Amino acid sequence: MDIYKELQQELQEKNTQLIAVSKTKPNEKIVEIYEKGQRAFGENRVQELVAKYEALPKDIEWHLIGHLQTNKVKYIAPFVHMIHSIDSLKLLKEVQKQGAKLDRTMNVLLQMHIATEDTKFGLDKRELIEIVEFYMADPSPFTHIKIHGLMGMATFTDDKEQVKGEFKKLKELFDFCKSSYVLTDDFKEISMGMSGDYQLAIQEGSTMVRVGSMLFGSRN
Ligand SMILES: *Cc1c(COP(=O)(O)O)cnc(C)c1O
Repeated sequence: MDIYKELQQELQEKNTQLIAVSKTKPNEKIVEIYEKGQRAFGENRVQELVAKYEALPKDIEWHLIGHLQTNKVKYIAPFVHMIHSIDSLKLLKEVQKQGAKLDRTMNVLLQMHIATEDTKFGLDKRELIEIVEFYMADPSPFTHIKIHGLMGMATFTDDKEQVKGEFKKLKELFDFCKSSYVLTDDFKEISMGMSGDYQLAIQEGSTMVRVGSMLFGSRN
């Protein structure tokens, strides 16, 4: 049985979108999965994302899932489908600026810091509130931004209870935003779960999983 088809079937039953994480993998591997019907692919580095965008079919929806530096937003702004990794107000302002320049609505998720490791990027609750309040201001300074929800990465550990607790935290932050602000129906995504923990993430309310090594094989 084909791993891609099996996973896609499992996710469809749970109404969860698959982002196929193709970082470090060659274009031929991406095309293989594209030909099975996959359109949403995720990359974590700007340079690699731009090169793949240029070489591959134009109906691919590219998701940037890794840390984004403000000075690199301009390279992906013309084509990126969604940026999962907004981790500062400064970065969101730059995405707004580039979106306005192109008159293109930029779809984003706010990346929350839910792991115990301090190496992982992401916002804390206070920073989340600050950004959402800017976004909700009338008139909003973010004319070319659509915030679709939150993203988070759990701690890299075998401790399932810990990972589960971190996913719960992300879901609670999502519910907090929904109940505290009059957000539109666009605010509906929770991007959490990778190869090792996607089933746990779905149990805890994920709407988008970012799966790489399970589909493409392990990375060096
Ligand atoms: C690499 C990566 C993934 C995919 O990880 P796998 O364990 O290979 O499924 C998901 N999300 C982010 C942010 C990543 O950098």
